[in-house]
Amino acid sequence: MSRFIRARYKGFESYTPGEQPKNMEYVKLNTNESPFPPAPAVLNVLKQADMELLRLYPDPTGAALKEKLASLYGVRAENVFLSNGSDDILNFAVMAFCDDGETLVFPDITYSFYDVIAGLHGAKFETIPLKDDMSIEPGDYCGIGKNIFIPNPNAPTGMTIALEDIESIVKTNPDNIVLIDEAYVDFGADSAVPLTKKYDNLIVSQTFSKSRSFAGGRLGFAIANRELIDDLEKMKYSTNPYNVNRLTMRLAEVSVDENDYYMENCKKIQEIRKYTVTELEKLGFTVLPSKANFVFAKHETASGEHIYEKLKDNGVLVRHFTSERIKDYNRITIGSREQMDTLIERLKTILGMEGTK
Ligand code: PMP
Repeated sequence: MSRFIRARYKGFESYTPGEQPKNMEYVKLNTNESPFPPAPAVLNVLKQADMELLRLYPDPTGAALKEKLASLYGVRAENVFLSNGSDDILNFAVMAFCDDGETLVFPDITYSFYDVIAGLHGAKFETIPLKDDMSIEPGDYCGIGKNIFIPNPNAPTGMTIALEDIESIVKTNPDNIVLIDEAYVDFGADSAVPLTKKYDNLIVSQTFSKSRSFAGGRLGFAIANRELIDDLEKMKYSTNPYNVNRLTMRLAEVSVDENDYYMENCKKIQEIRKYTVTELEKLGFTVLPSKANFVFAKHETASGEHIYEKLKDNGVLVRHFTSERIKDYNRITIGSREQMDTLIERLKTILGMEGTK
């Protein structure tokens, strides 16, 4: 840290992304990427792309991609916001909607970017504890008169709340925004997008990173009523008007055309998830009911850290969090069937060797 950093950032800790190791080839099950390649048509467009055009700025309005997303989700282009990954949307939402003196609320166990982004902008925040079974109690969020971020499915638990409950939360906080972070919605949860037509305080954010095999391309989008989208646009035009690059924009357009390919892959992930849960349970794991492309699992005897470390030594990377309430768990991305078989086989070795806490 230099001596020039603003006083407010002196003790500020930034977000720590999952490891992206370069030293060896791991079976990488730690950052919820897709095991499937982008659709063949996307790769073809990439191969044939006129790179000379990269000297030109992209369309800052993203009109063509917005049109495609709007028709896929049954909304208008004016209801769509495009971003450089969906983290960007969370950032803009805090910038735009979390006024001084207001409080942002989210679950105690959730995506750890939320408290960082709130801290960055000096927004006050409060957390609401998950229930003992790690589920969200929707009633805790009804009528609280505060801005709310909830991922559905939640991360890192993978657990969902019902659309009726989301509607109750949105309806009973009419003077605050509710942002439903649907980064993992395509793996079996119900989307709140249709509710955006009914409520002017609901923002739904999604990403191409997980279900559309595009984490490296960085494309997120939000759907909401027009005024909310205009507010997000204001933040974007005031920070980085060309936040989605030309190549990503083009590839994302083709990805929308290839939606069936991606939704088929999401079904495969759900099947592999079911298989993985069964296998983990046989090894003595308790696995939370997940509708995401990851599972959150703890072992009956071995500690979360032990399993994480030993898997890493054996070439498999999963995500371990050290906070008290979830330190017994590991978050395991659902990869290909082969990757999951490797995981299970390595776990058998690890547990057979040492087993206990
Ligand atoms: N929301 C949640 C709940 C996530 O887990 C992630 C991925 N870390 C994101 C949003 C952001 O993903 P991206 O910026 O790649 O769209």
